Amino acid sequence: MKIDKTQEQWIKSVIREVADFPKPGIGFKDLTTLFADPKAFGFVLDAMTESARELNPTAIVGIEARGFILAPYIAQKLGVAFVPVRKPGKLPWQVERQSYALEYGEDTVEMHKDAVGKDDRVVIIDDLMATGGTACATKMLVQKVGATVVGAGFVIELGFLDGRKALGDTKVFSVITY
Ligand code: AMP
Repeated sequence: MKIDKTQEQWIKSVIREVADFPKPGIGFKDLTTLFADPKAFGFVLDAMTESARELNPTAIVGIEARGFILAPYIAQKLGVAFVPVRKPGKLPWQVERQSYALEYGEDTVEMHKDAVGKDDRVVIIDDLMATGGTACATKMLVQKVGATVVGAGFVIELGFLDGRKALGDTKVFSVITY
């Protein structure tokens, strides 16, 4: 995804940084200010859609909760399935699950077993990649149900945390990097 310096500055200017949320030391990237700006939000959605299109996906997997704000638009624009990956206990049908380590404790993601299958090429979408742990667990989840992950896309990548490493050879795209 190629955006120029002016566009990058513009998008960064509409993302609010909240210090010490949800705990001391975290600089939280608040995207609600981006979502409220129709021009900037539209630009980000279109940029992500074009990057996803190049990977020729058959499904776009969005990660709860902020991935749900982005992934359905991309899936609709590309004319492919939107598939939700959710927190435990939310999906009504048979699920596959994947747990992953957090700084303290662990978390789990779930998806419907029949949501995608062996012929599917999946692009994973979330708002932000930090350590890559959430995206990596989602990649393993998608692989568990037999599909192929062809890419993972984010609005923001925290480059200094090297989340790309966690995703191995999966293609990663992001609109802006810090
Ligand atoms: P990670 O699994 O470490 O890549 O963390 C990614 C998930 O945590 C995403 O779903 C983000 O929404 C959230 N997240 C992590 N760090 C931040 C941050 N600094 N600002 C906003 N969201 C964050």
